[in-house]
Amino acid sequence: MALAKMSVPFLDLKQQHRAIWPEIQAALDPVLAQAQFILGPAVERFEAAFAAFIGTRFCVGLNNGTAALHMALHACDIGPGDEVITTPHTWVSTSWAVSYLGAKPVYVDIDPATYNLNPALVERAVTPRTRAILPVHLYGQACDMDALQAIARKHGLLLIEDAAQAHGARWRGRRLGSLGRIGCFSFYPGKNLGAFGEGGAVVTDDEPLAQRIRRLRDHAQQGRHQHVELGYNTRMEGIQGAVLEVKLRHLDAWNDARRRCAARYRELLSGVRGLTLPAPPADPSAHVWHLFVVLLEGAGRDRVQRQLAEQGVASGVHYPTPVPLQPAYAHLGHKPGDFPVAEDVMRRCLSLPMFAEMTEEQTAWTCKALRESLCAVE
Ligand SMILES: *Cc1c(COP(=O)(O)O)cnc(C)c1O
Repeated sequence: MALAKMSVPFLDLKQQHRAIWPEIQAALDPVLAQAQFILGPAVERFEAAFAAFIGTRFCVGLNNGTAALHMALHACDIGPGDEVITTPHTWVSTSWAVSYLGAKPVYVDIDPATYNLNPALVERAVTPRTRAILPVHLYGQACDMDALQAIARKHGLLLIEDAAQAHGARWRGRRLGSLGRIGCFSFYPGKNLGAFGEGGAVVTDDEPLAQRIRRLRDHAQQGRHQHVELGYNTRMEGIQGAVLEVKLRHLDAWNDARRRCAARYRELLSGVRGLTLPAPPADPSAHVWHLFVVLLEGAGRDRVQRQLAEQGVASGVHYPTPVPLQPAYAHLGHKPGDFPVAEDVMRRCLSLPMFAEMTEEQTAWTCKALRESLCAVE
């Protein structure tokens, strides 16, 4: 099949929304008509639906994923003097939440096969000050939760999941977010489940924690004008609840489409020299392919990205710098070489377009452009 040059965006939310517009409209109309802009019935319906979907007793809707992490750690009373073991290879919010509370993020290197926290290194980083392990299910793939749960149990640590890239993915049949004490989600528009703006949530089976986060998000009010502790304004908006409830019904189908897209990439890119593909997960349900990330060997990433762009193909880098080597974390005193696996991945990683509506032609065109760009090096 001859391929005509085409444009391949990194993701296409407009297309996703066109397909479900009547449903969205019907869900938004009452929110707007009733002016239920903050929390309200649409948010409550989404919270019930998302808790049922994840398989937890409670869900608390929040205004973004960073707040979800922050509220989760605050509700667990993590604070000054505490250490939280987490990954250097993530979006920076995972660390922000720890730092907002005056606790110390302790970073250990990642597993070269999954790019997730390496459990063997986690265990070695435990000290008497360690309070929690905060793993990230990066790119949509489950961490080794058996190993992390065992370490948490053995040392009496909290396990809090950053599932902001892993809506719907599973570990041994259970949805991610339900395996630790609290699961944290972001509904940033580009996530697998995205709002019409900012959004986030925590899920948990722990009723006192859920109640405390419900209070914290609303200025720590217990009854009107009774502020029982230092509170926040991290409430979910009504329109986000309405949109998310509609989109949640489509999430499993969208994730299946992402899996098919990942399989096509694997088929069309296997054996290409100078390219390392993501290792196929032992259990396909453990991965929802938030991102499809390849590693380049030698080839200049900037040049490859430029050549892809010339062929109409968007690409990204997730992420170029380990969090502990960011200027914001200079005070921790880390230096290049401290996280050899993460640093190697970050130098070489390239994220290819990935979204549920991506056509076979778009995947094929992307692979052709990438192959040509890699051949051009030799
Ligand atoms: C997106 C993301 C967050 C933060 O979510 P926001 O809604 O943008 O605040 C946190 N952690 C990870 C791993 C993410 O990908």
